[in-house]
Amino acid sequence: MKSDIHVCSAWEREHDRPVYTFGDTCPDCGAEAVNSAPAPFDPSDPHGPYRRSLKRRRRE
Ligand SMILES: [Zn+2]
Repeated sequence: MKSDIHVCSAWEREHDRPVYTFGDTCPDCGAEAVNSAPAPFDPSDPHGPYRRSLKRRRRE
């Protein structure tokens, strides 16, 4: 299922964190808002790197 939530395409440059919107443009800076589905990573998840390193260790 495709998500209707978009994320500011310039958030890395314009904001401290991803800015999500249901519209086509960022409500904060007016940049294009793109589909957020294939998020490369979640910066709001502080345990992400830790979990990934755990997973790697388990594979060895
Ligand atoms: Zn923005």
